[in-house]
Amino acid sequence: MIRLKGGRIIDPANGRDEIGDLFVDGGLIVDAPAALEAVETYDLTDKIVMAGAIDIHSHIAGANVNFSRMLLTEEHRGSEPHPGHLPFSTALWSTYETGRLYAEMGFTTVVEPAMSPQNALHAHLELADIPFIDKATLAVLGNEDFLLRLLRDGHGDNLLDDYVAWSVAHAKALGVKVINAGGAAAFKENVRTFGLDDVVPSYGLSSRAILQALLASVQRLGIPHPLHVHCSNLGVAGNFVTAIETMEAASGLPMHMAHLQFYGYGTEGKRGFSSASPFLAEAITYHKNITIDVGQVMFGQTVTVSSDVLRQHESRASARPKKWIVWDGEGNGGGVLPYKYKPESYYNALQWAIGLELFLLIDDPWRVFFTTDHPNGAPFTAYPQILHLLMSADERAAWIARLPKAAMTMSMLPQLTREYDLYEVAIMTRAAPARLLGLLNHGHLGIGAVADIAVYTEQDNKAAMFEAADYVFKDGELIVENGKVKPYRWGRTHFLRPGHDGQIEEWLARYYDSTFGSPSDIFAVPDRLSAAAHHFEEHRCRT
Ligand SMILES: [Zn+2]
Repeated sequence: MIRLKGGRIIDPANGRDEIGDLFVDGGLIVDAPAALEAVETYDLTDKIVMAGAIDIHSHIAGANVNFSRMLLTEEHRGSEPHPGHLPFSTALWSTYETGRLYAEMGFTTVVEPAMSPQNALHAHLELADIPFIDKATLAVLGNEDFLLRLLRDGHGDNLLDDYVAWSVAHAKALGVKVINAGGAAAFKENVRTFGLDDVVPSYGLSSRAILQALLASVQRLGIPHPLHVHCSNLGVAGNFVTAIETMEAASGLPMHMAHLQFYGYGTEGKRGFSSASPFLAEAITYHKNITIDVGQVMFGQTVTVSSDVLRQHESRASARPKKWIVWDGEGNGGGVLPYKYKPESYYNALQWAIGLELFLLIDDPWRVFFTTDHPNGAPFTAYPQILHLLMSADERAAWIARLPKAAMTMSMLPQLTREYDLYEVAIMTRAAPARLLGLLNHGHLGIGAVADIAVYTEQDNKAAMFEAADYVFKDGELIVENGKVKPYRWGRTHFLRPGHDGQIEEWLARYYDSTFGSPSDIFAVPDRLSAAAHHFEEHRCRT
């Protein structure tokens, strides 16, 4: 048994912010024992103790991530050698590095949010190879021929639900995501702009109809994580209207909207590009069924990876360096486009400000989630710096002073004085994401919770504080000490297996045979993967 003694325990899921002790045994948080003699003790006086952090949206595995590695081989030059014993460990940003860098910041669970069911096996093999942290995935539906035929031909809710359930179970996903519903299907028919009420030609279905069908199905199946939505018109000036119309299209059903910053764009000013985050913040305050993550932009070189193939194709001229991949596939396909956010750019500076405005204007930390949409807005290694910006108005003012005036005068950010406190940070990065994903034993420090715990030293410089945890415990085992990982251990992958009727399997067997010439379980993820110590953990749908 381990005793974590005398730290400040910040545990919003249990309404706790107090100095106290935690006891850990068998990987869980347990009651204080009757006798304290045989207990290994860590003195955490003056330390901050939180549950391990959870990232609900970070592209860390799968086809697009690997296309990025292959497209940007120059980034690998001069890299340090990495431990050679992990199968995917040789690229610059290897699976090992993903696990290490997250763990050292105190993150213990990360969701890969865009896994095509056809690429699920590869994505899971790669996730299984990421040490230290737990993982989960969302299965991308909404552009594949089988679903669009089901909807077009009006086969009814039961068959739709069986199909969604089958897809989640076969891909070992924890939820469902839709990316520009219908947009990728329309792109295959040479459509190049596609909004909420545009129609996929061959199917006669609007984006709205596909979105609403999936929203309702996820709800009926009792999948805890609400449908995770990447709206249409990403990155287009004026697209805040699309985002608000999408919120309204949910008609009160729970819906999560991903990387909302990329939809915070108005058309005002002489460049026709302005901040619309006040409108979005107001709409979110009104629509209590909506949660969002921000997708904060930070400055520097990155690579955008997205299964919004239509929008990636339309943005290809902005690639820096000038090379890109856009690939069509069953369902969404994908696009990889390197990009450099420059502080001297009016547009990039305003994007940076819009993200922070969303964080600061939406006053419910249970409904706004902390992401950069890694690596789209910035790599996740920028998180400590972003926390510092959220927690210090002075730090923001110092950044604002260095950015283009033309952009900053178009933003409310200079006037916003709100500063997040540690309790709000713990809600946004721990308690709320666990609740949103249905991982009820995670994200909190109550008795019976999984002992994923991060310990920090409070500092004025929050970037320094959150960059390197003093200790991180994963399932009760010490994995980080003084900001450095210990020898690696494996996390697990969380998934759902929603039940479905046998009829859908017969349909899919016929469909796969006639369309792909393969059996329908060819893409299924088996219960055991090669990494010996890795395992899956099944969670239940609501009944
Ligand atoms: Zn994303």
